[in-house]
Amino acid sequence: MKTCCRCHQKIDEEKDRWVNVRDFDKGKIVGEKDAHLICWRNMIKKDITNAIREKVNQIVNMVKQ
Ligand SMILES: [Zn+2]
Repeated sequence: MKTCCRCHQKIDEEKDRWVNVRDFDKGKIVGEKDAHLICWRNMIKKDITNAIREKVNQIVNMVKQ
């Protein structure tokens, strides 16, 4: 049975759309997890939003100085 690494709900492999995410280090699999496709997408979106916000703050600080 698979569990979503984001919402910790059960993944129904037949009915749900889900992704298997593998962590590679120098070509070797060092980690593996499953997530609902929608949960994964939301997480990526959040990461990108945070990264952009951080970048904007950096630029704002540079302008201030
Ligand atoms: Zn989920």
